Amino acid sequence: MNMETITDNLKKNLRVLHQYTATPGDGTTRLPFTKEARAAVNHIRIMMEEAGLEVREDEAGNIIGLLKGAEPSLPAIVAGSHFDTVTNGGDFDGLAGIMTGIEIARLFKQEGAPLKRNFIVIGFCDEEGMRFGTGYFGSKSILGQVTQEDLRHYKDKDDISIYEAMKGYGLVPENLPRAAWDLKTIRAFIEMHIEQGPILYQSGEELGLVECIVGIQRYIVTVRGRSDHAGTTPMDMRIDAVEAASQVIAKIPGWARKKGEGTVATTGFIKVIPGGMNIVAEEVQFSVDVRSRNKASIEDIVAKIRDSLDEACRRNGATYTMDNKLTITPVDLSRDMLARLENHCKSRGYTWRRMISGAGHDALAVGQVLDTVMVFAPSKDGRSHCPVEWTEYGDIAKAAAVIHDLILEMQ
Ligand SMILES: [Zn+2]
Repeated sequence: MNMETITDNLKKNLRVLHQYTATPGDGTTRLPFTKEARAAVNHIRIMMEEAGLEVREDEAGNIIGLLKGAEPSLPAIVAGSHFDTVTNGGDFDGLAGIMTGIEIARLFKQEGAPLKRNFIVIGFCDEEGMRFGTGYFGSKSILGQVTQEDLRHYKDKDDISIYEAMKGYGLVPENLPRAAWDLKTIRAFIEMHIEQGPILYQSGEELGLVECIVGIQRYIVTVRGRSDHAGTTPMDMRIDAVEAASQVIAKIPGWARKKGEGTVATTGFIKVIPGGMNIVAEEVQFSVDVRSRNKASIEDIVAKIRDSLDEACRRNGATYTMDNKLTITPVDLSRDMLARLENHCKSRGYTWRRMISGAGHDALAVGQVLDTVMVFAPSKDGRSHCPVEWTEYGDIAKAAAVIHDLILEMQ
């Protein structure tokens, strides 16, 4: 195995895909069902074909490449990640995993097709949930977990539903159920991803083997009060949506700190309506994103948010709704594949550490139902979801090497 060639290929491919952004010069912005996504998928198709894969795009907008094994009736091994990004994100999040899969396929081809099982490389559509506030669209679609109702329910900031966006992208939303896989035909899912945090970069270890991915619950809370004149409405006669919402928002970080076990809770979005300096707020919308490896901790924080909203609204007469955008239970990854990966790291002389992923990934959705494992490569300074996101191509190549070894071993 020529590590230099793998590194060069990864570098070339990732650099080429950098051009498909809606924000040139200011990071990579590739939201789902946009022209940037279309252009990137078209290019990934070419890359997959060059590596010798049979390529198709499914009804959810996932791009799928197949390398046939000698005994294609055996359950297949799948590797990949997502091709969408956040707004002003980086070049490595997601794409590094797809490019790794393509490089591994190329290696198998060069080695004279040593596989019994089919090997599938997948580029998932809309993992981030940036546009519609959901996430895991492509991975949940192959699991048959996205409903027609979901397509109409979730909308972007311009009020375009997933349904409409899919149509504009050239997909037929009614056909989405056909994207679902027969799970009996899949042996395992392997996702290479950048760490997106500082642990490997600080420790100097070359690879991260992920034991567990935290669970997530995500909500948009809307608190409704009444707009009034800020000067003439006495304090005891207002229904101030900001007053009620802010009391709750201020408490959320403290609840997460108390839980420990990597529990985090974030309000990253707040909108005040109408948003005038001299108007009592009629409405406040804010987001809540709670993550933990312990499901009970997530549920407890969400319950505390509800109780606190009840109390704050009771006090001044406001009302609220909590719209659940995402619920995913924490997932333990395959112990068997982790042990095998450790051996492959040893034989290749790479350093590694076992770790928890605090970020959700396609592996989080897929790992609920299939044997799944993840391999992390270090993120420079731990930075991700920003234009300076950087991972050494050579480190991604090391991940490709051990995943290649794992797949060969599992034939
Ligand atoms: Zn990602």
